[in-house]
Amino acid sequence: MLFVLFLAAVLWGIGHVMKTPVQARLYMVGLLYVAVLGVQIALPTGHPLREATGGAAAMWLLFGGFVAVVLAYRMLLGRVRGRAEEVEAARDAITGASEGPFRDVELERYARHITLPDIGGGGQLALKNAKVLVVGAGGLGSPALLYLAAAGVGRIGVIDHDEVSLSNLQRQIIHSDARTGMPKVFSAEVAVGALNPHVELRPYHRALTADVAETLFAEYDLILDGTDSFVVRAEVNRAAVAAGRPVIAGAISAWEGQVTLYDPAGGAPCMACVFPTAPAPDLAATCAETGVIGALPGVVGSIMALEAIKEITGAGDGLRGRMLIYDALHAETRILRAQRRADCTVCGGL
Ligand SMILES: [Zn+2]
Repeated sequence: MLFVLFLAAVLWGIGHVMKTPVQARLYMVGLLYVAVLGVQIALPTGHPLREATGGAAAMWLLFGGFVAVVLAYRMLLGRVRGRAEEVEAARDAITGASEGPFRDVELERYARHITLPDIGGGGQLALKNAKVLVVGAGGLGSPALLYLAAAGVGRIGVIDHDEVSLSNLQRQIIHSDARTGMPKVFSAEVAVGALNPHVELRPYHRALTADVAETLFAEYDLILDGTDSFVVRAEVNRAAVAAGRPVIAGAISAWEGQVTLYDPAGGAPCMACVFPTAPAPDLAATCAETGVIGALPGVVGSIMALEAIKEITGAGDGLRGRMLIYDALHAETRILRAQRRADCTVCGGL
C-alpha cells in the first residue's frame, strides 16, 4: 500500500513541477486509485501484484471513502465561504463599507450630518477629504479643533509654540489639568485622538514664522486663525494671500468676539484691507492683559468651526466680506460689511 501512496505522491509531484492544474492531478491520482481497486477485485488472493498493492480491496475502499469525505467537506467549506464573500460584497455595495469611502462605524458616527440635506453623504465626504490648518491651540483653537475633529475633517493641522498653563484652563477646553506643562499641540493631539480616531491630527510645535508659513499653508485647503497677536495675524494673512487660501479669522477680547472669512481670491477682503495698520498698543492688549470671559472663546471658536464646515461642504452663506460681532455682555450680535481695497498692500496686486 505504501508503494501505491508513494506512486500517487510522485504523480502529484510531477504534476506540480509541470504546473498541471490541480483538477488534472486529482484525475491522475483517481485513475491510479481505480486501477489499484481493479487489481484488488480482479486478481486472486496471493497474486504478487495484488499483494504488492495492499492485498485487500476493503482497505482501499475505506481509504477511498475517507478521502472522498475530506474532499466533499473541503468543497462544501469553499462554497460556504464563497457565499459569505458574496453577501459581504453585496452589503458593501449598498453601504460603501469596504470599497466606499466610509466604514460602518463612520456612517453611524456622522449619521446626523448625512441626514442634513445641506451636508448629506457628499458633504461628509468633502469633510473627510478636507485639510484644515488651525493656527493657535488656545481659547479659539480649543473648540475649533474639537468640532472639526468631531465633524470628521480628514486632516487637521495645528501650529502653536506654547505649553499648557493653569491660567489657560478657564477657557481652553481642549487641554486638561493633567496636561499642564505639555506643549499645547500635543495636548490637543491627545484630546482629538480620544474624540475621533478616524481623523488625522498633525501637530506643529513651533511659532508660525514667515519662513514656514507659506509652504505650510499650501498643504491645507483652509486656514483658521485663532491667535491673539496682531503680528502673527498679519503673517497669517500675508502667507494665506500668497498661497491663495481663505482664512476664517476669530478674535476675542474681554466680553466681545468677532469672526469673518478673508478671501481676496474669492472677491472678499483680506485682513489688511480691513485693518491696514497695526492697532495702537493700548488697543492691542492680549487676553492676559484685559482678561476674557471663559465661555466666549467657546462661542467664537465654535462659529469658526461651523463656518469652516460650511466652507468645505458649500452649505449656506459664509462670512465673505462680512464680520460677525458678538457682544457677550449685552447678548447682542451685529454684522459689519467690508470691501476689498484696491490699494491694499497685501492683496492689492491680485
Ligand atoms: Zn487686502
